[in-house]
Amino acid sequence: MGKENILVVEDEEDIQELVRYNLAKEGYPVNTVDSGEEGLKQARAKRPDLIILDLMLPGMDGLEVCKLLKNEPKTQHIPIVMLTAKGEESDVVSGLELGADDYITKPFSPKVLIARIRAVLRRRSKESSEKRSTVSLRDRHPPRKPSAGEGQAEPDLHRVQAAAPARAPARLGLYALPDRERWGRT
Ligand code: CA
Repeated sequence: MGKENILVVEDEEDIQELVRYNLAKEGYPVNTVDSGEEGLKQARAKRPDLIILDLMLPGMDGLEVCKLLKNEPKTQHIPIVMLTAKGEESDVVSGLELGADDYITKPFSPKVLIARIRAVLRRRSKESSEKRSTVSLRDRHPPRKPSAGEGQAEPDLHRVQAAAPARAPARLGLYALPDRERWGRT
């Protein structure tokens, strides 16, 4: 299996290049765009395995992109790692609440970038394999269909008892009856 495809949405050229270079060095196929609108388009069309998303973008900003992607069934499963600048803490919180998976604060070391991305991808593949194994378990052991009439006797009994309590008294009720009215006594 090849490495995961990563989409990088970042308008600053030097940072875009730094990210692209380090990801490519690790063997990840990388696609870079420099606007939120283009990021949205690429994410919808190519469904990358992970998106690195700068928050401060001209035009549509990163939070808006994140919100739209996390609200669309076709793209909401794609992990998003936000790129943020110092002092954007409130944006980080908003992004995480919108569904972003992690964030990296600029300036960052390439090693931290790669480690974070690996961790997010690992988490995601574990989640999806757990989902797969639940499904296959259910496929292997589908719930048995009861045959006609099976399991009906008991509910029927309860229904009779509820509809006519006098006909089928509970045991405690029996003991409370005067002797002559108890069943089985003469
Ligand atoms: Ca930016």
